[in-house]
Amino acid sequence: MKEFEITCPLTREPRLKEIEARAGGMKWVLKKRSVDARKEPVWRYQYEAYAPGEEVPEYVQSPYLDVYDAPAVLIVGAGPAGMFAALKLLTLGLKPVVLERGKNVHERKVDMARLSREGVVNPDSNYCYGEGGAGAFSDGKLYTRSSKRGDIREVLHQLVDFGASKDILIDAHPHIGSDKLPGVVEKIRNCVTAHGGEYYFGAKVSSIESSKEGVTARCADGRSFSGKRLILAAGHSARDVYEMLQSRGGALEAKGFALGVRVEHPQEKINYHQYHGTWKPGYPAAEYSFVEQVDGRGVFSFCMCPGGILVPSSTEPRTVVLNGMSNSGRSGKFANAGVVVQIEPEDVPGENPFKLMDFQQAVERRMFDWCEEQRCSGVKDIPQNPMAAPAQRMEDFCLGKISKKMPPTSYFPGVISAPLHELLPPVVAQRLQKAFPRVKMKGYYTNAALLLGVESRTSSPVRVPRDPDTLEYLSDSMIYPCGEGAGYSGGIVSSAIDGIRCAQAAAAAILD
Ligand SMILES: Cc1cc2nc3c(=O)[nH]c(=O)nc-3n(C[C@H](O)[C@H](O)[C@H](O)COP(=O)(O)OP(=O)(O)OC[C@H]3O[C@@H](n4cnc5c(N)ncnc54)[C@H](O)[C@@H]3O)c2cc1C
Repeated sequence: MKEFEITCPLTREPRLKEIEARAGGMKWVLKKRSVDARKEPVWRYQYEAYAPGEEVPEYVQSPYLDVYDAPAVLIVGAGPAGMFAALKLLTLGLKPVVLERGKNVHERKVDMARLSREGVVNPDSNYCYGEGGAGAFSDGKLYTRSSKRGDIREVLHQLVDFGASKDILIDAHPHIGSDKLPGVVEKIRNCVTAHGGEYYFGAKVSSIESSKEGVTARCADGRSFSGKRLILAAGHSARDVYEMLQSRGGALEAKGFALGVRVEHPQEKINYHQYHGTWKPGYPAAEYSFVEQVDGRGVFSFCMCPGGILVPSSTEPRTVVLNGMSNSGRSGKFANAGVVVQIEPEDVPGENPFKLMDFQQAVERRMFDWCEEQRCSGVKDIPQNPMAAPAQRMEDFCLGKISKKMPPTSYFPGVISAPLHELLPPVVAQRLQKAFPRVKMKGYYTNAALLLGVESRTSSPVRVPRDPDTLEYLSDSMIYPCGEGAGYSGGIVSSAIDGIRCAQAAAAAILD
């Protein structure tokens, strides 16, 4: 096998003739493409060419089996972890029964629109809850720090099989986009149900009982479901699920997470600086990422959405939480990213496993309460939407000054000029104030950038401890804590991979 690379302008693909010439008549495979904007921006396409007789590696999807009469495995949550666990179970000959508290991926949109327009939070249907989980209306970035390459390939190939663009198999920074993700999520469900798996919506699991024979999940509406094992993939926002586990006497641990702000720049500024002034229409919207160490803690950009919008992602009323999403074209006017500070269990006194979750919730409530006070005290010309977010320009934040005028923003509920440097906990505010001026990217530190509070749902503040080999919950071997909510993944791909691993572990226990 030989490797070769072709560079070409960002406005076109490499020509077939050139690829064939470089392959020297051998069978070639495109492996990767990435933007190189260090000088004149180009695409770098990387290929492998195989001599006759050499085996060309190919991904082969294990067949999905009919599981109508197979033993059932309950899956709580239809996010990436739950969906990929369900697909894996089909290949292993077990019947996934998916219990999702929210609505199907299309009906969910009505509640999300109400959340943005009127500030009404449906605690079971929002940007985090509903079919597809927190990833369904996101940028759909598919990068992961997970090093399990084989599993990443499995997830990406399955996403393509269910409608994602083939580009995700070769892009260095693959993403799907909010306009395409719902279709993929629906096709995954159709595959599961076509083979005898089951999906139930509005099925909020409120208690779990288990015995040697199996496990029963009861839902808030009185329905109950039984299976041989239960994969608990309820995401990092399901505070009620942690409380349910605690009420059964189950083990839980406080886990470090990160908290900060969403930062929004005009996308044209990010394009200008990242492409060194050479950006042209047709070029991909520029991304950025950075990590700084400030006073012994990591301060880092998180979940950057080029050409994206900011969305309210509270899961309970009287809290303000923000996140970001983009469509596949990433053609919006703004670039947003979380910029967050690592919070460790020692930052909050006490031994309570919920101490960081309580800390997170207190900050989210503070953001809401401060805005509510402004509305109630009759401050003029401020948005009345309960999801309006406190905001401050970047340089003003670092200098501890109130911003006089707010710049344009993509955040539909609106913003209220606020002393974010005081509203955020000092452990966060002081580090962010030091970090922003240090960011090496040209043009990043500017008052044209707006900070909005709060970005708090970065990862789970609680861990549900499991055996590292069997993946069984330490307090109940019938339960497999899975995905981001259990504290074992972060992001779409790593959560999907964890879903696959939990499905394999549950299958091994059942079929043994
Ligand atoms: C707006 C937004 C944008 C994001 N963008 C990206 C991105 O671009 N790339 C990326 O990698 N990550 C992104 N993320 C994070 C990513 O979505 C999560 O890491 C991922 O979805 C976690 O997967 P999961 O399956 O573990 O949990 P979740 O996706 O949170 O799914 C959990 C599911 O469980 C359900 N549930 C909760 N409690 C119960 C219960 N009691 N009974 C039944 N069901 C229950 C929920 O309704 C939910 O559907 C984004 C998140 C948000 C909110």
